[in-house]
Amino acid sequence: MEEYKIKTKVVGVDISNELTTYAIVDIRGNIIAEESFLTSGYSDVNNFVTALSDKIVNLVEANGGYETIRSIGVSSPSASSVSGCIENAANLPWKGIVPLSAMLRDRIGLAVGLSNDAHVSALGEFTFGCAHGMKNFIILSLGVGIGSCFFSAGDDHTGHNGYAGEFGHTCIVNRNGRACGCGHTGCLESYVGAAGIVNTAKELMTESDAPTLMRNLEKLSPRTIKECCDQGDEMAIEVYRRTGEMLGLGLANYASLVDPEAIILTGGISHAGKWLLEPTYQAFEEHVFGNLRGKVKILVSKLEDRERDVLGASALAWSVPEYSLFK
Ligand SMILES: [Zn+2]
Repeated sequence: MEEYKIKTKVVGVDISNELTTYAIVDIRGNIIAEESFLTSGYSDVNNFVTALSDKIVNLVEANGGYETIRSIGVSSPSASSVSGCIENAANLPWKGIVPLSAMLRDRIGLAVGLSNDAHVSALGEFTFGCAHGMKNFIILSLGVGIGSCFFSAGDDHTGHNGYAGEFGHTCIVNRNGRACGCGHTGCLESYVGAAGIVNTAKELMTESDAPTLMRNLEKLSPRTIKECCDQGDEMAIEVYRRTGEMLGLGLANYASLVDPEAIILTGGISHAGKWLLEPTYQAFEEHVFGNLRGKVKILVSKLEDRERDVLGASALAWSVPEYSLFK
């Protein structure tokens, strides 16, 4: 009788506008081997997928071979788990519809699962992070864009087309709102995203002549503004107060609709600490539906962003039906 070997490893891939990271992850969530390369080095998506396939194959061959790998999970901005495509990604080099899942499956010969970065972050947090054991929670990634995913009754809510959770593009300012990259005005992202925070700082410096360390900064960014807060700079603190006010208001609307156990903040801007969290929580409690007041936890993820996304992609890999040319 032929011995049946259980496949104990998967490959997790995280594609971001900056880096593409791929790793072999075992069934317990240990990262066995991991490598990265610059996404922007490939303007043609065919060359990108060929290079990614070759690199994955080399890593797999050096770490136990094909027979031990069950499947591949991929995280990417603007990816739909329903179509298996990256669709009109604003911040990636490839325009239009990219059938990434099929392209990778054809080249490597293993099952490929694809989902958008916010959903994969949520899977990572659910499987390995502070949402472990929770059935209803929201994960929010705060960076250049504002992505979100809602886990409902233990499952991620992907939506009919795979794009549920575009929280950054919900409108929070009715008239005279800021213009957003999506073509609308008044979107949450244009206030709470990285560029939005910088714009708030610029607005405050124009509104008043008061001294602020921000005027001496070589580069205004969420991180440098936060560093000014740490030194007690009143105007920088006001930047994050206004940011938190908008975020808390938006989250109160979100939570009032879906009644989550917790909201977990991830991404670079979540590291702003109390300067962001205190005004966010205050505005949240002010605006959330009364029966939920004091009941929804707002937490900051303990996982490092890239690690969570690679682990989340590995969790996605386990969820796709097994298929292999190399039985
Ligand atoms: Zn928008």
